[in-house]
This record gives sequence, structure tokens and C-alpha cells, in this order.
Amino acid sequence: MWRGAALRAVRGTGSSRAASGAAAAQLRRWLEGELEGIRGAGTWKSERIIASRQGPHLRLAGGGAGILNFCANNYLGLSSHPQVIRAAVQALEEFGAGLSSVRFICGTQSIHKDLEEKIARFHQREDAILYASCFDANAGIFEALLTPEDAVLSDELNHASIIDGIRLCKANKYRYKHMDMHDLEAKLQDAQKHRLRLVATDGAFSMDGDIAPLREICQLAQKYDALVFIDECHATGFLGPNGRGTDELLGVMDKVTIVNSTLGKALGGAAGGYTTGPKPLIDLLRQRSRPYLFSNSLPPAVVGCASKALDLLMESNAIAQSMAAKTQRFRSKMTAAGFTISGKDHPICPVMLGDARLAAVMAEDMLSRGIYVIGFSYPVVPKGKARIRVQISAVHSDEDIDRCVEAFIEVGQKHGALP
Ligand code: PLP
Repeated sequence: MWRGAALRAVRGTGSSRAASGAAAAQLRRWLEGELEGIRGAGTWKSERIIASRQGPHLRLAGGGAGILNFCANNYLGLSSHPQVIRAAVQALEEFGAGLSSVRFICGTQSIHKDLEEKIARFHQREDAILYASCFDANAGIFEALLTPEDAVLSDELNHASIIDGIRLCKANKYRYKHMDMHDLEAKLQDAQKHRLRLVATDGAFSMDGDIAPLREICQLAQKYDALVFIDECHATGFLGPNGRGTDELLGVMDKVTIVNSTLGKALGGAAGGYTTGPKPLIDLLRQRSRPYLFSNSLPPAVVGCASKALDLLMESNAIAQSMAAKTQRFRSKMTAAGFTISGKDHPICPVMLGDARLAAVMAEDMLSRGIYVIGFSYPVVPKGKARIRVQISAVHSDEDIDRCVEAFIEVGQKHGALP
């Protein structure tokens, strides 16, 4: 009897089993209303299904082949690099599919320790700690580090995961205007009454492709005795002469105390995140950081990918440098054609259009020409600042970039975005 029921549950019946009862019906009505609201507001996010590996050329499910991809964070093209894939397969075979455990119970393998040591060496910091994602690293740091006696000062356009991480902590919260050093200074003056001050900023902002003024932030931090935290998800691996990130690019590696970043973008693109910084801080996170303490260890294959990506970057700075010329090519050709590209020198190239409908229609039309780009509008970006975000990768060829620019010119002229 029991076995029969269990087997039916495992196999399923071929049709879903909706929960019944008044509460379930009420929930369903509420959910449908919410979903309708999202659709009505024009902010529904749909997902395109990719039927190939991540890379500059994609096949979409349902037929679309030879699509040129300009919307992944695969900045260095390592997501499908043969050596990265081989390292993942080797780690999978040697260390298994996963640990079935959190780190402190029985979930730490030699490869986790090796990767943490490698991350710290890459960033020239004392130690590092791995998380399942950078979202988790950001969710886990502020609460573990800051008390009600402390203060955190955060750029208003910081990533959602920083905002959520700060919400979880009991420190006094200050939000300064985006990259506005006068406002940061005023907030730092106000925050002098607190025990410890931490300035938190994205190194590079993913919606605008702009880079935080870290030199100025570090000068203010020195003047007002504050610590600096940066989120380097859109910088690690490719900004700075050796790809160390925004702090290397701006010459302040010794002034930024804490770096959080991801293994899920330039560093192989699988998953995972980390914090790197002073050893006692990392030791404290291992004791107190909740997403680390109460979530599974990174799977060996994922560790293998990231570890190989870091090896490749530490062997030579050629990979880190490989994207800059392509970014420059796209930005200068688009600007010459009459488009406004936000940010400077960053492979995130937002083509500013203003109108939300125009951004959506142009992105669709680009796809019909075989170019995959995404339009962003309110509430992801401020009202009236809709855009199509283009992301350049080291593995785009010059021809790929030229094809993208040509398509933009055609589509822009068709929809009145260009004269
Ligand atoms: N921080 C920034 C600035 C990001 O762009 C992202 C990802 O979109 C994250 C954190 C989260 O990274 P992960 O995908 O590793 O959770």
C-alpha cells in the first residue's frame, strides 16, 4: 500500500495535482492578480531558451541558430573554454558530484581550500571565503560584521544583493547619491558619531557601465576613518592591467579593505561567489555568516571551473587585456553612428534610448536580424532612461561587433532613434 503510493508519487501521474481548499483557492486568486499586475505594468520578464553552450554564437530552442549573443556576462569567453570544461570534468570525476553538506560539518575538500588560497593570491589579500553565489556573499557580510553601533554608507545604485545584505544588518544606514562625493562626504561627517564606518559600492555598475570613483572614495575614507567595501562582479578578471579589478585599475588595491565578487561571470561563468580581505574578517565570516554556515558547499565541478579560470588569468595578462580593443571598437563605431553609449571603457555598453517601448521594439527587431540584446526599462532603470544593454566579450570577433553595429544602425533608422 505504502510502496504503491510512494511509487506513484515518484513517477507522477502525468498531470499536476493542485492543492484544494479555500486557502489554496484564495492564494491562487491573489497570485493570478499579482501576475496580471506585472503583465499590465509591462514589466514581465520572459526567458529565452538557449539550446547550446554559452558563447558569442548561440542556438536558441525552437530553431534560431547562429544568433550573435551580446547579453551575457561572459566577458572573457571562459564559460565554454576547453581547459575550463576539462578542469570541471576532472574535478567531477575525482571529487564527485557534491558534498551533501555545509562546509563546517563535512563539506570542505582540498579543492575548496586551494581555490580560496588562489582567490586571495589573485586579489593580493590575506584570505578568502567561498559562497554559493556573490548574492550570498553580499547577504552574509554586513550582518556578520556590523553592529548597531556602526554605520554603513551605500551608493544608491548598488546591486540588489548589497541592498538586501545591508537590510539584514543592524548598523545605521546612509544612502549617498550615485557616485556623488559631496554627498558621501556629508554622510561620512554625520556618521562620525558611530564606532565604525563602512563605505559600500559596486566597483562597476551593471546598468550604466560606469566605474566607481574609488580613488576619491578611498581618500574620503582615509579622511573620515572609514573602511571601503567593493562588489567586483563586473570587474574581476578584466579591469586593470592584470584583470584584478577596479581597485587595480584605479591604483587603490592597498586601500580597499573588502572585495566581494562572483565566479559566475568572467571567471568561468558557472556559479559561486566570495569575500576576500583581512584574515580575521574571513575567520569571523566562517563563524558567523549565515549563507556560508547554512548552505551547501560549492560543487567540485564548479570549483574546478573557477580554479582553472584563475590559473589562466594568473599565467598571463593577455586574456584580461583581450577585451579592451573590442569594447573600444563597439563604443567608437556606435558613437560615430549617432548613438549615446553610457559609461566609459567598460564592456557593458548601454545604448541609451529613453523610451521604454522603443527599447523593447528595437531589441526584438535586433533579434530578428540575429543579434541577441536586451532592452531595460523602468523599474530596472529610472523612468525615461530605457536602454538596450550590449555586453562585449573577448571572444567576439571584429566581424561580430561590426555586424551588431550595422544592425543597430538599420534598426535605429527604422524606428527613428537615429536621424
Ligand atoms: N553583485 C552584482 C553587482 C551583480 O551584478 C550580481 C549578479 O548579477 C551579483 C552581485 C550576484 O552575483 P551571483 O550571480 O554570483 O549571485
